[in-house]
Amino acid sequence: MKYLITGGAGFIGGHLTESLLADGHQVTVIDNLSTGSLRNLDAVAANPNLNFIQGDILNFPELDNIVAGSDAVIHLAAAVGVELVVKDPVHTIITNVHGSECVLDCSAKHHKRIIIASTSEVYGKSKNPEFCESDDLLIGSPTFSRWSYACSKLLDEFYLMAHHRASGLPGTVVRFFNTVGPRQTGQYGMVIPRFVAAAIKGENLQVYGDGSQSRCFCHVFDTVQAIRGLINNNDSFGKIYNIGSRRSISILELAQLIIRQLNSKSEIKFIPYAEAYEEGFEDMQRRKPSTQSIKNLFGWEPRHTLEEIINDVAQSIEQ
Ligand code: UDP
Repeated sequence: MKYLITGGAGFIGGHLTESLLADGHQVTVIDNLSTGSLRNLDAVAANPNLNFIQGDILNFPELDNIVAGSDAVIHLAAAVGVELVVKDPVHTIITNVHGSECVLDCSAKHHKRIIIASTSEVYGKSKNPEFCESDDLLIGSPTFSRWSYACSKLLDEFYLMAHHRASGLPGTVVRFFNTVGPRQTGQYGMVIPRFVAAAIKGENLQVYGDGSQSRCFCHVFDTVQAIRGLINNNDSFGKIYNIGSRRSISILELAQLIIRQLNSKSEIKFIPYAEAYEEGFEDMQRRKPSTQSIKNLFGWEPRHTLEEIINDVAQSIEQ
């Protein structure tokens, strides 16, 4: 099959590209290399089935032709990382709203299979013990930049659903929950690559707030398998799927686990949220997915443990 992956030089995109090429598929990657990196495609750079194009989906006249020539589109290009979102909310909104509009319009015009990446952030300040795709959503006030990410992604979801209803667009939304693994950079705020890098160097692990907030971390290899399973599943058209792990851990326990597992001499330092992000920053206290929908669809469940994730991230940093 011929795939178009927008944001294919990003962390998830690079792993997905590698996986599809390994099975003999053709992959065109469009990436503006703003947060993505060619290093994520190093292992497949010489593969004749890879067509890498440095371009920005916001302004890319060839997009229509490339979508027309593809069998499926996986739209991953987006502003990533809470820190980046807080620093540059204008860029976040334009990229996530207008960029997705361009890709979805082309896919609708040519009636192409499309999967778009959304985020667990859309569940906002929900206090539910686990988040289900059909839940009502509780987003914070627009006076806090953080929520621009959730709102922009949510609009993408609505836009895909609108096209699905209007013309039968074969589209699916995936909501990623804290995806982690080799090659992920801590540059844009992601906690595991940051903690692991600090533990290796013997530097302080900086826990924001009191560390009681919890997350579920999913290995990128499992995320890639989930996306691949969905691509060829017609029952997923017009639906939304959470993709994530169900093992919940507080950020303080995560820091302790990483120090222990890597035999590090690092210490934990608590940093107030206002210092780490912005005054009045609202974190999500807990975030755990229900993954029953995707499990029911084709039996997907994560296979890699948190300990494996930490080892893989450590190995990739040490390389
Ligand atoms: N975090 C932290 N130290 C860091 C980076 C992040 O304590 O150096 C916290 C962050 O405040 C959040 C959690 O770790 O509560 C996960 O952050 P990440 O940016 O990885 O993902 P998020 O869940 O915020 O999208």
